Amino acid sequence: MENVIIIGTGCAGYTAAIYSARANFSPLLLSGNMPGGQLTTTTEVENFPGFPNGIMGPELMMNMQTQAEKFGARIEYTLVSSVKKTAAGHFEVISEDGTVREARSVIVATGASPRHLGLPNEKSLIGRGLTSCATCDGAFYRNVPVCVIGGGDSACEEAGFLTKFASTVYLIHRRDSLRASKIMADRALANPKIKPVWNSTVCEYLTDEKGEMRAVMLENLVTGEKTELDLKCVFVAIGHVPNGAFLGDLVDTDENGYILQTKGTRTKTEGLFAAGDVADHVYRQAITAAGQGCAAALEAERYLAELGVH
Ligand code: NAP
Repeated sequence: MENVIIIGTGCAGYTAAIYSARANFSPLLLSGNMPGGQLTTTTEVENFPGFPNGIMGPELMMNMQTQAEKFGARIEYTLVSSVKKTAAGHFEVISEDGTVREARSVIVATGASPRHLGLPNEKSLIGRGLTSCATCDGAFYRNVPVCVIGGGDSACEEAGFLTKFASTVYLIHRRDSLRASKIMADRALANPKIKPVWNSTVCEYLTDEKGEMRAVMLENLVTGEKTELDLKCVFVAIGHVPNGAFLGDLVDTDENGYILQTKGTRTKTEGLFAAGDVADHVYRQAITAAGQGCAAALEAERYLAELGVH
């Protein structure tokens, strides 16, 4: 029986692991299908304290992993499909391959996944001119037009990164002003390769004879006018969906699926804690996720102490 299982290996999960390992609980981390979480798909992180010159997202996550393992955290690469609380009061954490791991406490730090528009042929176009990760796929689209959909920090960051490769980066946003923070918005709008397309949404993906993206159909939300825009890749950056559905009734969620914390990082189920983007729809920053991971580990430690486990 594990004392602490941490589900997820983003900022929240690794920080929880560092604290829990230093409390001598030798926590078991279950990686999920994207080890390192969202920061592994980003470039330079400029706002994580302690790195005045910025740090690359993947490097930051590798550092966190090394730090957690140094103090005795263990990592297994598996995707959790459900969690159950037994009559005896402990947890069964069940992986996709059917493996059951038992634990006295569980910290859920599963983050959030990119949201899509929900257009009919969207899923089949992933990897054929549709993606949510500029860092992963941007270099495939050199000297051709591409677009980013969205108006937040992610959209601005992706658009800026893509200007290294693409001939033009259309920034398609459904309103006439960006949601992004001022520094990111100003930087994007000052970039001559980024062309904003305001008050518009993509209503159709258009493909060539090989089934690859060749254009999008834009709808102007003010005039209703529809126009075709030629491009080779669509980068969707319209926010995220929290990854908490596998917990079923063990947690309450808000209408968007974010886990509701009761006190600090506690949830409605004793011994089950939630930290980071799976529970935070307000701040959603690397540093706030790390802070919640720390809090969850400290609260799990107190919970274990109440059970007489030290
Ligand atoms: P976000 O702030 O929620 O922005 C999502 C954007 O997508 C919004 O502009 C929204 O439009 C648009 N959108 C949502 N649903 C849409 C739909 N169905 N069709 C068309 N457009 C749609 O998400 P985010 O940019 O991923 O940022 C998430 C969090 O991470 C934020 O807190 C952000 O500050 C943080 N972040 C920080 C950095 C950084 O500091 N370096 C980088 C990336 C992200 P509306 O504006 O009209 O709602």
